[in-house]
Amino acid sequence: MTEYFYPERMGRIILMAMEEVLGREGVRTIVNLASLPPYTEEYPAASSEKNFPFKTVTRLQESLEQVYGPQGGHGTALRIGRACFQYGLREYGSLLGITGTAFRLLPLSTKIHTGARSFAELFNTQTDQRVRLEEKDGKLYWIIERCPLCWERQAADPVCHLAAGLLQEALYWLSGGKIFNVEEIACLARGDPACTILIDQTPLS
Ligand SMILES: [Zn+2]
Repeated sequence: MTEYFYPERMGRIILMAMEEVLGREGVRTIVNLASLPPYTEEYPAASSEKNFPFKTVTRLQESLEQVYGPQGGHGTALRIGRACFQYGLREYGSLLGITGTAFRLLPLSTKIHTGARSFAELFNTQTDQRVRLEEKDGKLYWIIERCPLCWERQAADPVCHLAAGLLQEALYWLSGGKIFNVEEIACLARGDPACTILIDQTPLS
């Protein structure tokens, strides 16, 4: 079976975000439970080398559910996803082209569309994850066709909440502090053709 990878830098971002939410002891528990290398001793390098397996990303998610239960795991994964955006912005902001003044001055709808395209492009070029976008009735669909969060998993409900948190924080940042409804409505782990995150382009607040 083909193995797929994230660059080490993204593994690093996920672990640092986990540490922000759970504390270092919390991450140690999760990593031990997932029988992964002792990342808390040394986080992966900030390198673009594709070395951080999808399987590892998925195991981290599963362990969150084991430790915090399905509900708690869901909430925790959302929070970790939101923290991932902040670390990701530091690592990839200039590459994404969304940190300049010109971008900041664009209308919100343009920022959402340009930002989403550029974000999808980042995953498609820097990682083995595959993302495409669709739009229907004012809603944006972030469609993950090859997903690191539920790799070879089976579940009754969608499990890729980290992705929803990541996108929600991206929108919060793009809009200068507005909350958007973002939720995973289909998941490969459930037998759906892709993991699909629905993004309501009208903010809740
Ligand atoms: Zn998934």
